[in-house]
Amino acid sequence: MDSYDLIIIGAGPGGYVAAIRAAQLGLSVACIEKDATLGGTCLNVGCIPSKALLESSEKYYEATDKKGLAAHGIAIGQLELDLTKMLGRKDKIVKQLTSGVAMLFRKNDVESLHGLGRFTGEREGQKHVIEVVGADGKPAHTIAGTNVLIATGSKVASIPGVEFDILGSGAGARVGTSTEALSWPEVPEHLVVIGAGVIGLELGSVWARLGAKVTVLEYMPRLLPTMETDVGDAALKLFKRQGLAFHFGVRVTAAVASGDAAKVTYQDGDEQKVIDCDRVLVAVGRKPMTDGLGLAQIGIEPDRRGCIGVDDHFRTSVEGVWAIGDVIPGPMLAHLAEHEGICAVETMAGQPGHVNYEAIPNVIYTHPEIASLGKTTAELDEAGVPYRVGKFPLMANGRAKALGETDGFVKIVAHAQTDRILGASIIAARAGDLIAELAVAVEFSASAEDIARSIHAHPTMAESVKEAALDALGRVINF
Ligand code: FAD
Ligand code: NAD
Repeated sequence: MDSYDLIIIGAGPGGYVAAIRAAQLGLSVACIEKDATLGGTCLNVGCIPSKALLESSEKYYEATDKKGLAAHGIAIGQLELDLTKMLGRKDKIVKQLTSGVAMLFRKNDVESLHGLGRFTGEREGQKHVIEVVGADGKPAHTIAGTNVLIATGSKVASIPGVEFDILGSGAGARVGTSTEALSWPEVPEHLVVIGAGVIGLELGSVWARLGAKVTVLEYMPRLLPTMETDVGDAALKLFKRQGLAFHFGVRVTAAVASGDAAKVTYQDGDEQKVIDCDRVLVAVGRKPMTDGLGLAQIGIEPDRRGCIGVDDHFRTSVEGVWAIGDVIPGPMLAHLAEHEGICAVETMAGQPGHVNYEAIPNVIYTHPEIASLGKTTAELDEAGVPYRVGKFPLMANGRAKALGETDGFVKIVAHAQTDRILGASIIAARAGDLIAELAVAVEFSASAEDIARSIHAHPTMAESVKEAALDALGRVINF
């Protein structure tokens, strides 16, 4: 039986990055993936294809002049949408990146095994025995590992009453998940999105920009309730301006396809309401993926939400078994999965692996983008921590004016006495890139003064970050 220092189950951003880091550290590594391509949810049906479509649809939306291209003195004649080509571009990007992971595995001597990985419960000495089950349901390989890292990610969650209609994918997927919504072959006339979370907002935006009427049904009473209230309020205004319609505080009770149409039923207070539409995107969250993994064979029982419990260094309750990424409790983010994987394998190799959960940027890639980090003012109020807020509107930033991207603001929250940055929120074009500076600041325990005294190039959107820091100190210049 082949044996390895480390067997990784799942080749998403958590698993594949951990595999490469472990190989760099001199461990012998095998990575098992059940899907035909590497890269997991992120590269195949998540971060990357959604961002490709967000970019393409934003270009189309801009060209329809809804964002004032004419003000630049640019007139566009007949505008045409070639959706097949747009989807093809997205598929090509996915293919390039997933095959890139295969190439990285070869370069780093990571053994890549195709099949479903599962614990047998047997031991070869101290090592855990893992079977790699092929498409025929039979073990194609049996291998042993001193350490096993579970990086099996997540799968779509649903709600009672929703009947997915995804077998046909593409055209057949009247009631679908994000995966189907990345490949619908025509622009829906009326798309109903269940859930105003990250997927609902990103993919709802894609199809709204391409011309669909989009109605979003959300259970919570307001948009983005875990973010700063002024962020949620500003975002709602902007999305409404882009044509998305929202119903908050409603509970969807059924979504059913019928021929080329679908019907969504929801409870709005005492009233039951029905919407007829032609596509439904169910985006009510994701849940950990542990199907077929054989956890019971080694005595691991997932928690109530299906997550695998771990300690600060991603050790499970079983010696030599580790878990990271979407399958453990915490935010489901690709960059977090990567960092957890690196921390886990560095710890295995005797190094001091560490993940700072206060410095994880969270980005919604709509237009403008919405980025946040660290604590909100509501959380600080609850904890009784004194703070100061600095805020700077993009309207007052020269580069934003030149770009025609004046929507949004930067908000920085710093400790009232120590001035240490505790949290930040940005609504702006490319807010996801702007927040990186603040993630570094939080990682280095920087103060608002540190940001305010760092020289930011002029004219850049990033100057708004410096101005927000100055505002927290009562010294804003340009507003
Ligand atoms: P995954 O990426 O889910 O990878 C797990 C892998 O394990 C999969 O390939 C799966 O096939 C495999 N697997 C599972 N069980 C087994 C088994 N028993 N044997 C072998 N293989 C197995 N996050 C961001 O940070 N930014 C974004 O912009 C973003 N956009 C997203 C857009 C969409 C539409 C979706 C759905 C998600 C998005 N996410 C985004 C979330 C992100 O994709 C996940 O947080 C990330 O992929 C988690 O990484 P992971 O490695 O833990 O799991
Ligand atoms: P989410 O948790 O972000 O949002 C789900 C929303 O559905 C919530 O607002 C919830 O209140 C609502 N909801 C739940 N039940 C409902 C019901 N019965 N009726 C109406 N609304 C209901 O989940 P998601 O958008 O599906 O995304 C899944 C995961 O993928 C998230 O954890 C997210 O972190 C990750 N993701 C990240 C990115 C990114 O980082 N840009 C992009 C996409 C997905």
